[in-house]
Amino acid sequence: MTLAFVTGIGGQDGSYLAERLLADGVEVHALARASAGPLPHCPAAVTLHAGDLNDTHAVRGLLLELAPDEVYNLAAISSVAQSWQEPEAVRRVNGDAAIELMASSYAVMQAVARPVRFVQASSAEIFGAPTTSPQDEGSPLAPTNPYGEAKALAHRAVGTWRERGLAAIAVILYNHESPRRPERFVTRKITRGVADIVRGRAETLVLGNLDASRDWGWAPDHVDAMVRAARHPVAQDYVVSTGESRSVREFAAAAFAHAGIVDWERHVRVDPSLMRPTDAADLRGDSTRARRDLGWQPTRSFTEVVAAMVEADLNGR
Ligand code: GDP
Repeated sequence: MTLAFVTGIGGQDGSYLAERLLADGVEVHALARASAGPLPHCPAAVTLHAGDLNDTHAVRGLLLELAPDEVYNLAAISSVAQSWQEPEAVRRVNGDAAIELMASSYAVMQAVARPVRFVQASSAEIFGAPTTSPQDEGSPLAPTNPYGEAKALAHRAVGTWRERGLAAIAVILYNHESPRRPERFVTRKITRGVADIVRGRAETLVLGNLDASRDWGWAPDHVDAMVRAARHPVAQDYVVSTGESRSVREFAAAAFAHAGIVDWERHVRVDPSLMRPTDAADLRGDSTRARRDLGWQPTRSFTEVVAAMVEADLNGR
């Protein structure tokens, strides 16, 4: 039986990944911070181990004990905006601890004398200010915020450990959304705001930069790409993206439209204090390699992602 070790189980992707792996018959173990509180979407069949990714010594001991076949590193401080408030903590978790987990996975591989597949949740933010669009696996790293900088550190280390013999893979994830997205992300903030307005609980939705564009996909699709990448005989990096970018404005318009509100701009107020010091320019991914080598493709269009999120928020409360 395949045994997988997952970090970041409390997040959107961790829960979808656990569901996916369990459905495949994989035994799933996960690291969970005691301080993280309840994990509402985590399947009961996951074996949780209390610990913190920053406690690299303890994590190494745990990995050596479990000797997983697959390691998925999804743990991260995931807010780009917040990364300006605590750049050091972000570098430690998203950068250093990720790299240390690669070293520990390599130690497992040596101890058990069989391959360990390591999947790093890399991010489109490593391309921050791209000179070309769409970006692919060969695009230069140009992060523009501490989140991207830390992710770029870990991203480079994936290549280093792969050279060393670890089956290390970076999946370069573009934004991916779902009803499990926390409200600190703009998509869920919008869909929840729309539901509140429809229900008469709010009149206005306050947003920042409406012109920012992102390549927005469906989170379970991106998780599917991670698993496919882990199982592919060749360990290599993959851009995971839809290839289409849409603005926050377009997301908001689509969300309101799905709820039957056409004159949506009446309900939106822009607050300049929500604008970021730097905002990624045109992040749009070229996922040709993943589509060709992994047989992967997005299953939901932009409109379908928006609709699923609005529906969930309309039905949720
Ligand atoms: P990110 O791409 O991982 O930073 O995901 P977010 O959902 O946090 O932000 C996506 C884009 O939406 C960024 O360019 C933000 O500047 C923009 N944006 C506009 N208004 C808001 C808002 O109210 N909250 C957030 N989080 N982002 C916003």
